[in-house]
Amino acid sequence: MGAGDTAPRALPCVRISAGVFLGEERSSPAAVTPGSVGSVRLLGVPIRLHFTFVLLLICLVVIGLSGNQSPGSYALFVLALIASVLLHELGHALVSSHYGIRTLEIVMYPIGGVARLERPAKPWEEFWIAATGPAVNLAIAGLIFVILYTQNRAFDLFALTQPSAENLPERIALGNLILAGFNLLPAFPMDGGRMLRAILSRLKSEYEATRIATWSGRMLAISMGLYGFIYMPMLAFVAFFIYLGAANEGASSRGRSLTQGIPVRAAMMTEFHTLPHGGTIGDAANLLLSTSQQDFPIVHGDQVIGLLTRNALLRGMAHDGPASYVAGFMQREFPCVPPDKDLAEVLPLMAHAGACVLVMQDGRLLGLLSSDNLSQFLLLRSVGLQPSEG
Ligand SMILES: [Zn+2]
Repeated sequence: MGAGDTAPRALPCVRISAGVFLGEERSSPAAVTPGSVGSVRLLGVPIRLHFTFVLLLICLVVIGLSGNQSPGSYALFVLALIASVLLHELGHALVSSHYGIRTLEIVMYPIGGVARLERPAKPWEEFWIAATGPAVNLAIAGLIFVILYTQNRAFDLFALTQPSAENLPERIALGNLILAGFNLLPAFPMDGGRMLRAILSRLKSEYEATRIATWSGRMLAISMGLYGFIYMPMLAFVAFFIYLGAANEGASSRGRSLTQGIPVRAAMMTEFHTLPHGGTIGDAANLLLSTSQQDFPIVHGDQVIGLLTRNALLRGMAHDGPASYVAGFMQREFPCVPPDKDLAEVLPLMAHAGACVLVMQDGRLLGLLSSDNLSQFLLLRSVGLQPSEG
């Protein structure tokens, strides 16, 4: 980002629809899970690898090289399983797009892929989205078994303990059955946990349903971890990810239940400072020190023309010093939401990017929503604050 362009120019803010910067490239940093690398697009959905998945791949290569099967058949087996996991995730993506929910990205973790959706699905949408993944794996296994059957090949389960090029299709089919079974476990963050929550939310509140699915996820992870610790270290590794996933899902779901149906204006900061476009980085630094605000809207008259984030301020100070203009370092595209937007829909973005969101109506700046004041709001809600509508 270069300094110098101080000409005031009113730029339309990037409206957030359901927690995503609309109009921005999907590869924008806000839409990317931290720690993930690479991006291949399948059916329009970016597929990324989490660094822990890359570590797992390296582990698998090392195990494969030390085993006694031919490297070619081992590589085929691993590739087929990765493809099966991808097809499973694409199954989720396809059904969510049927419900009008865009899949922002699919991130591959050691325990499988995770499709990040643009907005939280409604219970029955969630049921069918979740059910499709394991159904894809069952279909792959079924297809392989049908082909083997038509070739009159006998299925010998015990022979599979001796991997060979001949029993590769059987092993891929069995791998898919295991994938389906594992994902159908009724515990968060597995698909079965989501299906359980969808069913429970018919009988109980969403919060209560999530609590039960999260609890069963934690119990599953703990028992798997203990078993793995004694007999199978790899299982303990998987258990660790299930535990993290269950905890994450529980937290985001709790946030959702505390914010659903509440307009953004109930949580926004209404006392805030702005800086004129001719202001300097030094002015911004003074405000940063004297207030609790971290990000500053830059205005020209009553029009917002940019947002100076704390990081940009620090960069400006380090590069060009306090006398440089804020306009040279401000973000010209900034996220904004209308005041009556459902807070629950803004949550995924705030949690993901930690961005400060401007609350605007008809081009007028009404307030700011930062992750700090959002956490204060959640804290107050959790101890019983009833926000006033208005
Ligand atoms: Zn799944």
